Amino acid sequence: MEDIFDITIVGAGPVGLYALYYAGLRDVRAKIIEALDDVGGGLKVLYPEKYVYDVAGYPEVMSKELVRQFERQARTYGMPILLGQRVTSLRRRDDGVIELATTGETHVSRTVILCVGGGAFIPRTLDIPNVKRLEGAGVFYYIKDSAWFRDKRVLVVGGGDSAVDNALLLQSVARRVVLIHRNDRFRAHEQSLQQLIASGIETHYPFWEVKELFGEDRVRGVTTVNTFTGDEMSFEIDALVLNLGFLANLKPLREWGLELRYNGIAVDELMRTNIPGVFAAGDIAGHPGKIKLISTGTGEAAVAVNNAVHLLYPERQVEPEHSSHAKRPDPR
Ligand SMILES: Cc1cc2nc3c(=O)[nH]c(=O)nc-3n(C[C@H](O)[C@H](O)[C@H](O)COP(=O)(O)OP(=O)(O)OC[C@H]3O[C@@H](n4cnc5c(N)ncnc54)[C@H](O)[C@@H]3O)c2cc1C
Repeated sequence: MEDIFDITIVGAGPVGLYALYYAGLRDVRAKIIEALDDVGGGLKVLYPEKYVYDVAGYPEVMSKELVRQFERQARTYGMPILLGQRVTSLRRRDDGVIELATTGETHVSRTVILCVGGGAFIPRTLDIPNVKRLEGAGVFYYIKDSAWFRDKRVLVVGGGDSAVDNALLLQSVARRVVLIHRNDRFRAHEQSLQQLIASGIETHYPFWEVKELFGEDRVRGVTTVNTFTGDEMSFEIDALVLNLGFLANLKPLREWGLELRYNGIAVDELMRTNIPGVFAAGDIAGHPGKIKLISTGTGEAAVAVNNAVHLLYPERQVEPEHSSHAKRPDPR
């Protein structure tokens, strides 16, 4: 006998975790399938030690603490969170049941909510000698443990949130931090940029890029070049942090038959995709006026779950009762 779930959520980032909690609140049977061995998505992989200041109810909270709270909330109803299984295909059968094939098994569900963020986390790298070879020996794409950088000399490359946040984070532990960026504008959060200006971190932009990376057994130095003037600067460094963004690979989603728009999966105002029974929420959901934030993503998750519940059980309203009326597990 097939074990058909009401809602299967793909991705255990903040949005997927909140969707699971919300499904429990609406008293339907749900589970999450997550490719990584841990929950938290971008917050855990990209910036675990960064403070977040724009989540409702939290004046400030460190990412990894926020993930802990998301996970705690998601586990309220004891529904499964399956880790280490990447969903490789999605197919709606003639009987309306949706099949999700993963690297481990095949799951069946009456509805699906895709909360896959930007898809797989594949960082952009630099196409110059030694970079690939020195990954793990001083070349970094994420900062999982800032303690490694204590007393080190670091060059951070990039102009988005990751680069600015990492430069700020490392300033408190590293001996020297230099930030270079090739564009004339930074794409980071306004508040982070103000902190960067106030921090006094040595910053070179625009037109600065890495030209050469040196080191046999580990990173030892770089030469940077100003591509406009041709000027060069060399730095002795122990670590090169490359925050050049991620390659969004949306191709597999198109192969699943999903319509793509606005740099994501096209959804309507009910967070429905073009495949009946399949919803999307969070960073992956594309619609006009899209804002990619935790707060907006969790709101989209609530919209998706409420509409999935109504689709599954038409007699039940889309609009939920207040959460204080919901069935909650006995806390004892
Ligand atoms: C440096 C940086 C700083 C940021 N700072 C802030 C901030 O201060 N405030 C804010 O609100 N937002 C911030 N953001 C944005 C925020 O991180 C995202 O909006 C949020 O993570 C989106 O959550 P999500 O659950 O949609 O996706 P994600 O967090 O990306 O999670 C998606 C999950 O889906 C999994 N997955 C993907 N494909 C599959 C598959 N095929 N099968 C199974 N699992 C899969 C992934 O492994 C991942 O765990 C920041 C982003 C960056 C990069």
